Amino acid sequence: MKLTRRTVLKISGLTTVIVALLPRMAFAARNTLRTVRTGIQPGNKTRLVIETAERPSYSLSYEPNKLIVTLSNTAANTALAPAMAAGTLVTAITQAQSGDKLQIIADLAKPIDEIPRDNILMLNPNGDNDYRLVLDFTAGSGAATAATATTTTTTTAPKKSTKPTRKYIVVIDAGHGGKDPGCIGKGGTQEKTVVLSVAKKLKNKLDAAGFQTYLTRSNDTYLKLAQRAAIGEKKHADLFLSLHANANPSRAMQGFSIYTLSEKASDEEAAKLADAENAADKIDVSGFEQFDKDIRIALSSLQQHAVAEMSVEYANGCASAFKRAKITQQPGPDVRHAPFAVLRSTVPGALIELGHLSNAAEEKLLKSSAHQDKLVAAIVKSVQGYNFDV
Ligand SMILES: [Zn+2]
Repeated sequence: MKLTRRTVLKISGLTTVIVALLPRMAFAARNTLRTVRTGIQPGNKTRLVIETAERPSYSLSYEPNKLIVTLSNTAANTALAPAMAAGTLVTAITQAQSGDKLQIIADLAKPIDEIPRDNILMLNPNGDNDYRLVLDFTAGSGAATAATATTTTTTTAPKKSTKPTRKYIVVIDAGHGGKDPGCIGKGGTQEKTVVLSVAKKLKNKLDAAGFQTYLTRSNDTYLKLAQRAAIGEKKHADLFLSLHANANPSRAMQGFSIYTLSEKASDEEAAKLADAENAADKIDVSGFEQFDKDIRIALSSLQQHAVAEMSVEYANGCASAFKRAKITQQPGPDVRHAPFAVLRSTVPGALIELGHLSNAAEEKLLKSSAHQDKLVAAIVKSVQGYNFDV
């Protein structure tokens, strides 16, 4: 079960009340600091990742050349040595326990400005990771206001606990199916058949590469888009890949293209494509609207932002893998965005248009087992290259 933000707030609110009523008793922290690490992101951004056992409730404050992350109701981890990457703005990280609050103090080589909301991610557990608060920042003017003078006390050692390793979970969605053939090539090739074949090959290869995979459909059946998204949720997937093939009024148009979810389309073509793919739902109405509603409610804006960010990270890697494999790319940006219903969930993912069935040469390729293997190999590389361990 995933805790909603509201539930978490209620729990921490309640705990605060109990602590306040019993001021002389040692507090039992609800949360535990697991790891702290730094890294370098594109654009020379410093990334600070704070991993905790439970979803943290946190605040940020800034002092000259210091970034202070205050975690509520969290025990320090004195045994912890932060993993410090070279070349970041962070020169040292210390922990300071103050009552039931834990401060993570990052000493900085240069001052920074207040970190914009867009550069803060809250990630749910996946693989070997617990909850992660991810902060990206660059050197700035130091205009962030100095704040919070808090008395600190000695830290207490938390219980050591090891978490079992689990495989990363990938849900593979072969688009269309059953009464919905998707687009159809001039030679009669149906999108639903091509993408199912690629999906099955991909499952085999990803399983062999050590991933745990599930298909949304393993035969020629029709599924609503929200049902597909719900499978990703139910399987607690780390990544959701929806496979499609494209059609274009211009028979000359060819190449792959990759999309992530955004309520606003990145361009008119992406908007039209999302309309076309979303139209799959109009084929039947059989009471799955509820799924869609539930999923929409489950997405807090912070989650939506984190999911979008991770999806774009995956999609960029996927585009690179396709290009490295010398697979023809549709002209335009590497990654586009549009409101694809199938991607509406808490699982990061992408919709991959493998090529154009409307193009005679590409229709032939998409049917061929050798080309399908090439596509699968590129997707496997993209999944292996995806940073599940932010
Ligand atoms: Zn499609």
